[in-house]
Amino acid sequence: RDKTNRIKIYANICGMNCVNEALKYDPDGIGLFRTEYLFMNASKPGEEEQFEVYKSILEKMNPRPVIIRTIDLGADKNAPYLNLEAEDNPAMGLRGIRLCLNKPKLFKTQLRALLRAGVYGNLSVMFPMITSVNEVKKIKAITEEIKAKLTKENIPFAENIRFGVMIETPAAVMVADELAKEADFFSIGTNDLTQYTLAMDRTNPSLEEFYDTHSPAVLKMIKMTAKAAKENNIPVGICGELAADTSLTEEFIDMGIDELSVAIPQIAEMKKKQ
Ligand code: PEP
Ligand code: MG
Repeated sequence: RDKTNRIKIYANICGMNCVNEALKYDPDGIGLFRTEYLFMNASKPGEEEQFEVYKSILEKMNPRPVIIRTIDLGADKNAPYLNLEAEDNPAMGLRGIRLCLNKPKLFKTQLRALLRAGVYGNLSVMFPMITSVNEVKKIKAITEEIKAKLTKENIPFAENIRFGVMIETPAAVMVADELAKEADFFSIGTNDLTQYTLAMDRTNPSLEEFYDTHSPAVLKMIKMTAKAAKENNIPVGICGELAADTSLTEEFIDMGIDELSVAIPQIAEMKKKQ
């Protein structure tokens, strides 16, 4: 494959410690920083603390792209100080972007830290568990509000940050053509997309015999998403575990997938596929 259009291999990370480890394998960028890990300790990180983490990762990776995902708490990931109510169906509950839209202060603090940190590198921000265009519009309105406030306060921030949508619900796949008009890029979260498409709990070991990671239904969802992205000229990546399945790499390339973001131990093997 010619070097200019080869598929990119990015790293999934959960904090600054992983960045040095990831860099040993020379990834093309960071495709998923799961920021909720910053929030799973005893106390909540404030704006400054978050800003410092995002800034150091961006500086370390610069000029390589870094995709930071906003907090994806709820479901199996909890933060003690949020006092989240127990739910009968947490995987389908107040999680991901819903939790952030439900707790605007938490969300706004993170977005402010991200906008400010964007000055120090090549930043993209993406949102988990999107199901509708309406959610993206709400996020955009909140972002505009924060930018206006930062401008007023004379605090520098990056104007050119790309905003992406995670495609990890069947609803997002079905409206991918409309989402693609609002988003700068897509990143397909195959872990949740598989769980919700097959209606099978990804954490339930008794489902192993039914849980088909190569389910034709899921592969069709990925293909539909890639098509919507291509038709609207936005890049599309995969950041779920399926990204590292080398038996599917050629198929993903044929579908038009631009980037595969994988766990650090898998980068070296994936780079052979470029
Ligand atoms: C996914 O759902 O595929 C994903 C990348 O996000 P997480 O595994 O953190 O839910
Ligand atoms: Mg997910």
